Amino acid sequence: MTSETVFVATCDLAAQLRGRAVPAARLDPALKTGVGWVPADLALNCFGALAPGHLFGAVGDLRLLPDPATALDIGEDGDVPGTRVYLADQTDLYGRPWAGCPRNFLSRALDDLRAAGLRIHASFEHEFMLGGQPNLPPFSFQRLRAAEPFGTELVTVLAEAGLEPECWLPEYGTGQFEITLRPAPGMVSADRAILLRELVRDLARRRGLPVTFVPLTDPAGVGNGVHVHFSLRDTEGRPVMYDPDAPGRLSSLAARFAGGILRHARALAAITAPNPASYLRLTPHRWSAGGIFLAERNREALLRVAPTVEIGDADPAAQLHLEYRAADATANPWLVLAVLVRAGLAGLADGELPRVWPETVTESELAAEPSLPGDLTEALAALEADTVVRGWFPEELFSTFLAVRRAELETVAGLSDVELCEKVACVY
Ligand code: GLU
Ligand code: MG
Repeated sequence: MTSETVFVATCDLAAQLRGRAVPAARLDPALKTGVGWVPADLALNCFGALAPGHLFGAVGDLRLLPDPATALDIGEDGDVPGTRVYLADQTDLYGRPWAGCPRNFLSRALDDLRAAGLRIHASFEHEFMLGGQPNLPPFSFQRLRAAEPFGTELVTVLAEAGLEPECWLPEYGTGQFEITLRPAPGMVSADRAILLRELVRDLARRRGLPVTFVPLTDPAGVGNGVHVHFSLRDTEGRPVMYDPDAPGRLSSLAARFAGGILRHARALAAITAPNPASYLRLTPHRWSAGGIFLAERNREALLRVAPTVEIGDADPAAQLHLEYRAADATANPWLVLAVLVRAGLAGLADGELPRVWPETVTESELAAEPSLPGDLTEALAALEADTVVRGWFPEELFSTFLAVRRAELETVAGLSDVELCEKVACVY
C-alpha cells in the first residue's frame, strides 16, 4: 500500500461518512482491533449537531472494526496525498456487534433473507448536479464532453476502485449527471453506494467543481434520485423473480416480496427519503415516485419492473428485476437495503399478491393508488405508527433515527423551499 494514512469509517444516519485516520504503519492493529468511536456520534444530524434526546449522552465507547473486503485506495493527485478507506462495523470493546450500527442492521436482514433461502443482488443508481457546467442540451454529446476531463476521470477512478461502473450520462437537469454500477451482492452494493458518493465528491473537490447529490437543488428543478435496482436469487445463485406467464412476468415470490414493500411504503419512505428536502422531490410527474404502486416499465411507480433486453437470445430470467425509486442520497444505503429486504420478507410471509399495473396503465387508472407521505413529518408519523417496521429496529437505532430527523426538521423550520434546498445541497 502506498498511502500514508488509512481512514476507518462508518456511514451514519445522516448518510455522512465519518471516522478516523491512522498512520499506515498502524494498519495491522487497526484491522485487528479497530479504532475508537463514540456511541453519541450516531446522533449527529446532517447539519453537524448532536440531536437532543438521543440515548447515549457523554458516556460509552465503541470500536470501528474495518471490513478488510471494503479497502478502497484513493490515489495521490498532485499535492493531495492518497489514502485508503475502510468501511467498518461498529462493535463494543469485545468486538460484539453494536445494536446502533446501521451496517449490522443490514447484515442481520441479509442473514434472515438467507435463512429464507434467498440472496439479493442490487445496484444503487445515482444522480447528482455538477456545478460550473454550461447550459447544454440534456443527454447530449456536447454536454458530456463539456464535463471532461471529470467524467472520464470519474469512470476510471470507479473502475480502479473495483466499483464496476456501467453507464455515465448527462441527465435531464442542468449540470445533472447519472452514474450506474453493475449489480453486486447485497452488502457489497450498499458499501459501493457509500463509497461512490465519496469518490464523486472527492474528485470534484480536487477539480474545484461544486457537486451535490441533494434531492433537489431548486424546488422548480429536476430531482436527484437514488434508485435501488434489486433481484432475488436462490442459494445456488439461480434467479427466482421471472415467470413469463404471470402479470409483469413477476414470479409469485417476486410479487409477494414487492407487496411487502408497497404495504410498508409510507413508513419506508422515512428511511429511504429521510430529509425534509426529500419530499419536494417525491411528487408526481418528476419521474421520482408519483405514488405507491408496482408497474411494468413505469417511471412514476414506487416499484418499477425494469425492462429486460432480449437481443441475441439474452436470458430475461437473469435480468428481470425491480427498481425502488423513492430513495435519495440523504439516506444511508445500509438502512435503505435493510428495510427493503425486511419489507420484502414480510410480504413473503404474508403471501398477498399485489396488483402489477401493465405498461399501458393510464394516470386516471392509477388515481386510487395511495400516495407517499407529503412531507417528512408525515413520513415519520407513518414510521412510528407502523409497528411491523418499528419491530425490525433495535431501540437505540430507532429512537436515535427519530431524534436526528426531528432535529433536522427543527433546524430548517421556517425556511422557504428554495432556502431548504440550498441549505441541504451544501451538506450532500
Ligand atoms: N431524476 C429522476 C428522479 O428524481 C429520475 C429520472 C430517471 O433516471 O428515471 O428520481
Ligand atoms: Mg436518471
